[in-house]
Amino acid sequence: MKYIFVTGGVVSSLGKGIVTSSLGAILRGRSYNVTAIKVDPYINLDAGTMRPYEHGEVFVTADGAETDLDLGHYERFLDRDLRRGNNITTGQVYKAVIERERKGEYLSQTVQVIPHVTDEIKRRIRTVAEEQDAEIAIVEIGGTVGDIESLPFLEAIRQFQFDEASADTLYIHLTLVPYLRTSEEFKTKPTQHSVATLRGVGIQPDIIILRSEKEPPEEVYRKVALFTNVKPEAVFSSYDVPDIYQVPLVFEEQGLGKMVEKKLELEPVIPNLRIWSEAVRVLREPERRVTIGVAGKYVKMPDAYLSLLEALKHGGIRNRARVEVKWIDAEGLVNGDLSEAFSGVDGILVPGGFGIRGIEGKVRAAEYARERRIPYLGICLGLQVATIEFARHVAGLEGANSTEFDPYTPHPVIDLMPEQLEVDGLGGTMRLGDWPMQIEPGTLLERVYGGAELVYERHRHRYEVNPAYVALLSEAGLIVSGVTPGMAGRGTGLVEAIELADHPFFLALQSHPEFKSRPMRPSPPFAAFVEAALAYGEAHRRLAAGADEAAGA
Ligand code: GLN
Repeated sequence: MKYIFVTGGVVSSLGKGIVTSSLGAILRGRSYNVTAIKVDPYINLDAGTMRPYEHGEVFVTADGAETDLDLGHYERFLDRDLRRGNNITTGQVYKAVIERERKGEYLSQTVQVIPHVTDEIKRRIRTVAEEQDAEIAIVEIGGTVGDIESLPFLEAIRQFQFDEASADTLYIHLTLVPYLRTSEEFKTKPTQHSVATLRGVGIQPDIIILRSEKEPPEEVYRKVALFTNVKPEAVFSSYDVPDIYQVPLVFEEQGLGKMVEKKLELEPVIPNLRIWSEAVRVLREPERRVTIGVAGKYVKMPDAYLSLLEALKHGGIRNRARVEVKWIDAEGLVNGDLSEAFSGVDGILVPGGFGIRGIEGKVRAAEYARERRIPYLGICLGLQVATIEFARHVAGLEGANSTEFDPYTPHPVIDLMPEQLEVDGLGGTMRLGDWPMQIEPGTLLERVYGGAELVYERHRHRYEVNPAYVALLSEAGLIVSGVTPGMAGRGTGLVEAIELADHPFFLALQSHPEFKSRPMRPSPPFAAFVEAALAYGEAHRRLAAGADEAAGA
């Protein structure tokens, strides 16, 4: 087992997750079994209780963990499912240590950060790597070197170099190299300080990666090498590229893969990075274009919808198209004419969400898509608002709503799941992770999933379509095309997907299929939605061109 540790310096939000994932991708391209672990120094047990507006999306793993969005990058770049243990937080570590202390497992000892907390951190990293049969485990330490919170983690990873053979550990430090336009200079001083801080806790990096706006000139690498005690050939750069899928290619081109092989004493091999060159080629020279209107709440924080945007991109790659996203603030859709907000949009997507803000706007977005026959994809909350809209305007259930937004609604078409009634506390208590969906034959959903009868998608919700209303809604024309199959009495028959007849593409799912989407294996609902939006857009442009011609003639 080999371990690669990735730390970051100077500032946060450097894209350490993408660097870690891209490194993983070039090792996967060499056929190694690679896993990646994200260490988050905050005290929350998981990311589920944090605000997406600050922290970005909560990524859900197949086994139902609510994790940092970097795990999504890892899954997409490594093309493997990760598990709960792949996201380690300070909260988890301390909880385990304190529980052990209460059981008396440290009897007569003073329980301390070193060694008890650091041992627990090391144990967790090793367990994940071993359980996943990884040949190489990449461990990314969240935050910035110098933060008080990350010290126990840095101490733990420092110890690895003595616990393991020297060819089995590798330390990579990622720093920011600011570029000053006025003097046209790359500044290396922050990097020098950051490496000095890292060395202060006993870690000498083997490799340094410089994050910069542009590719730095040779002398910058040399200067960094000189001041940080690293060979110039061990300094690499991660400069801005148009798409993150290019980063593995940039790294390979610079020889990062070869350097890792050398340091970890791996057999040199020629990697297969075709996935990435293919993806980059389509993204750079798309044959078609399509615009998707995303009616959400966090329109100023695209990271809150990261996997969703990636899944749209993957759907685009499959259709050789570039997907542009038009952000539509759902709160702005409550009043007035919607044609302005949705102008130029070839498909409407209502993503997942919590809380009442923007709900009525999302209901109107679903209505607009239904009436104008614009392709619609509803994800989780997007299924719930589509159901509310249909109940109110087609099934005639005035005032229909979800009890999440109106506890006194006369028609609770969306209601808490029975098992949620007993839940107290909000951390990790939703319906989470992979659940099966049984697909109704002869439906759009069946076509979307290529004829499959049963598929698994990831979930994160407390509410569901109220079973008491299913018959009524079906009679009014709503098609329930996916349900949870009967499983040991739990969750039997829950509505998993709905669609409309007489509509080119109106599909909504209770799950979040975006979490399973991969660059070359797009999520089926996303690929089909992009395809439908392309067809809609092209038909409309043809119509408009025809009308112009007629007017001219
Ligand atoms: N708020 C809704 C629920 O809890 C939808 C959740 C979501 O979109 N992820 O059921």
